Amino acid sequence: MLLTDGQGRKHDYLRISVTDRCNLRCVYCMGDDGIEQTSHSAILSYEDILKVVFAGAEIGISKIRITGGEPLVRKNLVKLIRKIAAVPGISDLAMTTNGTLLPRYAAELKEAGLKRVNISIDSLNPVKYHNITRCGELQQALAGIEAALQHDLKPVKLNTVLIKGVNDDEVLDFLQLAREKPLHIRFIEYMPIGDHDLGYSNHYLPLSYIRETAEKAKLPLTPVPLPGGAGPAESYNIAGGKGTIGLIHPISKHFCDSCNRLRLTAEGALKACLYWQDEKPVQPVLDDKKALQALIREVLSSKPLEHQMTADGKCGLVNPGTMRTMSKTGG
Ligand code: SAM
Ligand code: SF4
Repeated sequence: MLLTDGQGRKHDYLRISVTDRCNLRCVYCMGDDGIEQTSHSAILSYEDILKVVFAGAEIGISKIRITGGEPLVRKNLVKLIRKIAAVPGISDLAMTTNGTLLPRYAAELKEAGLKRVNISIDSLNPVKYHNITRCGELQQALAGIEAALQHDLKPVKLNTVLIKGVNDDEVLDFLQLAREKPLHIRFIEYMPIGDHDLGYSNHYLPLSYIRETAEKAKLPLTPVPLPGGAGPAESYNIAGGKGTIGLIHPISKHFCDSCNRLRLTAEGALKACLYWQDEKPVQPVLDDKKALQALIREVLSSKPLEHQMTADGKCGLVNPGTMRTMSKTGG
């Protein structure tokens, strides 16, 4: 079945945040003292998440991504993965994770039906990684990447937020990593989402910087089809590389015209756009599949044409954007 929004864009992709908790506290994602955590009772149960997946799958959702917070800190996540993988109509099941718990869970996740992972890693330098995540150990994230490769959670993509003055001197190290290993490194522009204290406008850098850096180093990037199918990234090969480079520019070159995403927050709010405040709770209709499907359609019918994030961070002055941090919305 074809599910479309008010602008006629096809929607087949649901991102589910299973928790707003995290074992890291990345500077661009949450404040210094973490976030005010939602109580366990306010978080959607696995049974309720499944009701949304069943309802969505019947009307056109075929791709699911599990995210958070850090999805792997929620208890018994493997059970949820197994159940979602068995829902008729779901053909792609992926996860975004910081990877630090993958050495423990990768084998079980694969066996339960998870197809692939995106692992977030913003620095290959242990001190910087620790500073960006405010507490993380680089070795644990690297071990998570190895576990994903070993257990065939492929294509293994790495998410790297480019942060001016913080990791912009590491671009060539990441390019080198994509040459040496079958890893698909997706640089992402820093987005002014939620309320946190890094100082967005001083640290935003457009991704044209990646191409310029590659050219200067005589490592030309050649456009290639996206590994693992469609998505917002522009994908490139580097000469002699086993992996690829992806550029995702939500700010300098937004991809709203091809957006196919709907989001379910950990508290059970359906959001059609990552940026805008608009959202609707699923709780009142969870026990009525038709009403749940009508709610999904209603949320999509009023999806805005585009977000209003800008490079100077002064976005949404007329209609302010969400104050939910990424860890609460689910990136
Ligand atoms: N904890 C998991 C992880 O880090 O992969 C999943 C949740 S995290 C919110 C999802 C993605 O959002 C990560 O790749 C993270 O880098 C990205 N993200 C968070 N805040 C961001 C921001 N302000 N701008 C750009 N990307 C951001
Ligand atoms: Fe946690 Fe992911 Fe946010 Fe980092 S980006 S604080 S790992 S939720």
